Amino acid sequence: MKIISLVIPIFNEAAAIPALFKYLKELSLQLVPKYRLEAVFVDDGSSDRSVELLYRYLPDGVCCRVVELSRNFGKEAALTAGLDHATGDAVIPIDADLQDPPLLVLKMIQAWEKGAEVVLAKRARRSTDSYLKRESANWFYKVHNLLSSQKIPENVGDFRLMDRVVVDALQSVRERNRFMKGIFSWVGFRSVTVDYERAERSAGTTKFSGWKLWNLALEGLTSFSTVPLRLWTYLGLLGALAALIVAADIVIKFVFHGADVPGYSSLMVAIVFFGSAQFISLGVIGEYLGRLYIESKQRPLYVVRPPRQQPSPYPAEESATSATDTEALTAFPPEPRFTTRRST
Ligand code: UDP
Ligand code: MG
Repeated sequence: MKIISLVIPIFNEAAAIPALFKYLKELSLQLVPKYRLEAVFVDDGSSDRSVELLYRYLPDGVCCRVVELSRNFGKEAALTAGLDHATGDAVIPIDADLQDPPLLVLKMIQAWEKGAEVVLAKRARRSTDSYLKRESANWFYKVHNLLSSQKIPENVGDFRLMDRVVVDALQSVRERNRFMKGIFSWVGFRSVTVDYERAERSAGTTKFSGWKLWNLALEGLTSFSTVPLRLWTYLGLLGALAALIVAADIVIKFVFHGADVPGYSSLMVAIVFFGSAQFISLGVIGEYLGRLYIESKQRPLYVVRPPRQQPSPYPAEESATSATDTEALTAFPPEPRFTTRRST
């Protein structure tokens, strides 16, 4: 039986977990007898009851792993951790808040069975997003694809099915500044698209403020384009050309009309403009230099807390093999109903 892995980043999602479990159970029922469902929950340093809920109510019929990060590393690192721990023949990152509908996975699997190596889930409409978020996302895709050599498909998030070969390729990309949408498309492979309508968040609130989104956009641009760095050369050249023309004009006026005392306001405007342009260009260089600095430290992408010991749902003689697998928290099949317990 092939395994379908769902990678689910969890950051303070206690309110959304019960509904999520309901859908996971439903999905696992619909997948048998052809496939087995594996859910890899990555706790990204939640400070609410998320982890407790995960351990206490792991859904029936689903093989679960819980990877606990030692602190909040951000969604991109959490996804990386999940992809590293997923064992499936196909792996699907999916949000915990049901905005990515779990049952769409069935449609994605159909496309995968027909030979696609990547099945992208595209948001046909983003009516549940605010006007500002929709517009800024539109602009982001446009600017990113204009400046970057690596295009990313518009309105496609992290929700996508990836064949094992794609996941293996992803694991070779270990850059520290991670923009997963860019990395996903960088590895390539044959892809098809299925459309879906993005639902409202099932419970809780978004973890991505405007500032966080802005930083993610910067990460995307600086990770896949050097155009912002090179742009300043051309702007500098243009500025120098304009300055030369103005200088020639001044010299001509001086020679033919005698000395002229120009107003200082125009001078101030020029000074402030070019001063600011220099600050901006320094800032752009700083963005890249900072990323280079972080990259050079070669720190791990995330830190995982040691897995908790879980009582095996199997009788003693059968549990001998699963006991060696410290990461598998529950084994498949789930009969009889396993009990899980927090023990540290
Ligand atoms: N998330 C995470 N770490 C973070 C922020 C978010 O693991 O630092 C998870 C979050 O729990 C959810 C997913 O990433 O499962 C998407 O987050 P959210 O729904 O807040 O984003 P939005 O849909 O509003 O863009
Ligand atoms: Mg969401």
